[in-house]
Amino acid sequence: MELIVAKHAGFCFGVRRIVNILMRFIERKKKVAVYGDLIHNQPYIDELKRQGVKFIYDISDIKKHFSEYIILTQAHGITQAEEDILKSSNVIFINGVCPRVQESEKIAIRCVKQNKDVFIIGDKEHKEVKSILSRLEGRGHVISSSNYLKELRAYNAGCIIFQTTQKTGIYFDILRHFSNFEVYNTICEATQERQEDILKLSKLVNAIVIIGGYTSANTKRLKELSEEKGLYTQHIERVSELDKKFFTFNKVGLHAGASTPESDIKAVIEIFKNKGFNIKELI
Ligand code: SF4
Repeated sequence: MELIVAKHAGFCFGVRRIVNILMRFIERKKKVAVYGDLIHNQPYIDELKRQGVKFIYDISDIKKHFSEYIILTQAHGITQAEEDILKSSNVIFINGVCPRVQESEKIAIRCVKQNKDVFIIGDKEHKEVKSILSRLEGRGHVISSSNYLKELRAYNAGCIIFQTTQKTGIYFDILRHFSNFEVYNTICEATQERQEDILKLSKLVNAIVIIGGYTSANTKRLKELSEEKGLYTQHIERVSELDKKFFTFNKVGLHAGASTPESDIKAVIEIFKNKGFNIKELI
């Protein structure tokens, strides 16, 4: 029996970056607090809280209770209004937004400056989408990734960008159908590499376990892709949720979203090892 571990399982560059920033402050014993969920992995956030890291969810609390703290904002971005409040609150804050999200933001702002509407393919409730939308002076529109062909047909022209964690197939589909739009592939490489791993794994295994936060958009995409390939798939947030059914398969794949800590991946590998599986890494 074999467990094949995806090459790009776990923390992406943007998540590793913000976690390292936080850890450096903690090591230097600085008073640091996080505005929003640092990354989309609840067990990891819970662990940080247990270690004493402060999390703030109501921005008005910053001025009242955290004026002595360095404020670190989450990796998915903050809205323009939130940034304005932080700037006027006289606190030191570090915008932890991932550089890849910032790149999307720059493209979108440039389009608006050129007097073009911007269409963001993504989830209107996701922080990243809200953050970009808030900077587009009313020229941004969110297009749902489940109904993009129909929704985009209501418009004639403009720029199309993608939430960084969208499925790459959507980008190619839009290129095929909408030659009248400027289409920018803002799906991040980390997302693409993780999705390619699922496609490779699907040729080698009968079942895939995916570890990651339930609010993690990129993890949900991995699950969708795996199911589309007809594999028995389980998305777990905590190692204890692992379905025993996996031990009945001969070949199992293991993948993890971009916010999943290595300790969770190692723990699942250990469980499979103890059940007699040989562990291999996806090439
Ligand atoms: S998935 Fe991409 S855009 Fe999102 S945090 Fe990671 S590197 Fe940044």
